[in-house]
Amino acid sequence: MTAPRKAIVAGAGIGGLTAAIALQRAGWQVKVFEAAQTLRTGGTGLSVMANAMAALHSIDAHLPVEQAGQVIRDFFFKKHQGEAITRMPIHEIGEQLGHPSVNIQRPLLLRALAQQLAPDTLTTGLRCTGYEPRPDGVTVRFEDGSLQEADLLIGADGLNSVIRQQMLGETPTRPSGYVAWLSVAPFSHPVMTEGYVAHYWGRGKRFGLCDVGNGQAYWWGTCNHENAADAALNISKQEVLAAYAGWAPEVVAAIEATPESALLKMHARDRHPVEQFCDGHVVLLGDAAHPMLPSLGQGAAQAIEDAVVLADRLARTPDLRTALLHYQAHRHPRANGIVNAARFMSGIEQAESTLACWAREWYMRLSPQSSLRKKNIDLLSFKPCP
Ligand SMILES: Cc1cc2nc3c(=O)[nH]c(=O)nc-3n(C[C@H](O)[C@H](O)[C@H](O)COP(=O)(O)OP(=O)(O)OC[C@H]3O[C@@H](n4cnc5c(N)ncnc54)[C@H](O)[C@@H]3O)c2cc1C
Repeated sequence: MTAPRKAIVAGAGIGGLTAAIALQRAGWQVKVFEAAQTLRTGGTGLSVMANAMAALHSIDAHLPVEQAGQVIRDFFFKKHQGEAITRMPIHEIGEQLGHPSVNIQRPLLLRALAQQLAPDTLTTGLRCTGYEPRPDGVTVRFEDGSLQEADLLIGADGLNSVIRQQMLGETPTRPSGYVAWLSVAPFSHPVMTEGYVAHYWGRGKRFGLCDVGNGQAYWWGTCNHENAADAALNISKQEVLAAYAGWAPEVVAAIEATPESALLKMHARDRHPVEQFCDGHVVLLGDAAHPMLPSLGQGAAQAIEDAVVLADRLARTPDLRTALLHYQAHRHPRANGIVNAARFMSGIEQAESTLACWAREWYMRLSPQSSLRKKNIDLLSFKPCP
């Protein structure tokens, strides 16, 4: 019997944990190293869209996620005062595809994935600092000076990936041009029915309100800003409330219900797409490979798709370097297409001019449900094979 192949995963985010589960289920020996002292315990929520749920289902890892989250039932685009522009058929697409889209608190998602790892897979508080390629594998360096050898290193270390930097050199981030405020807070409102998601559109501003289950709401607000990177650091709850004065009552009430200490501030960024996700025995996935703006709610979903496709290619192709090239060839067109689509969508959603805001509203109002369904079905379908 041959010894199991060994993989090291840098980063215990959504992509890294999914990759570890998928590889362990395919018989690999996997170690995951996370720089932070614990898995992220605080923070916000996100939507795990139907394509990601399908990918998780393909490795039998979907149920704990579904159980910890809230299936999306109604998804609206609304005017800032609350009038519905259109309802997106997200629930119906999920039914058609056989996989729901799920809102979930980020720490609960990480826990639902981590609980599926074999014991002693995860080491926290140990930062990976780089790697030395070898002809038959890779030596991984850690910040405490230790070294580990493996057949495969997976760089799942997020937007500021050190593995990416070593593989591709400097690839600057691109600003989004807006600041984002986010939170999860106990909140209920008559408008917020079970499985509710609404994106409220203003001029140069948006607000998202999502039922993540268990009486909790995840909300986010975005606001155009000339110097978003610096502005993100210095904003109080009062300023957020002021930014959304006159918006729908549920928007204002959600911010009011949030303790200042639970408010996160950030500046979303992406990078210009690249077509290289691997080099020898080292491979990138998720935000390390293709960070994207959050407009389509697909960053984590693409990290999950990456992880599942990577494990599949490694199982199907005995030569590791060839398997990584197959992974790269299959994944970069889809993931990079979504990076570009998310940036395009972000421009539309953050529009400020009266004409642009009017055009986007009427475009959405006049789009029949059948056309919205057709436009979204590809995005929300997971296709593991080319
Ligand atoms: C405001 C906002 C809203 C979003 N909403 C959604 C949504 O609704 N749906 C969706 O699908 N996506 C969403 N996304 C995108 C999503 O959050 C990311 O795409 C996703 O988290 C990427 O997962 P990842 O595992 O690649 O990276 P990360 O989640 O960033 O995980 C990387 C991990 O690596 C660790 N790490 C970093 N460096 C090192 C190192 N050197 N060594 C070891 N560990 C290291 C980090 O601590 C972290 O735990 C959103 C993003 C933003 C900003």
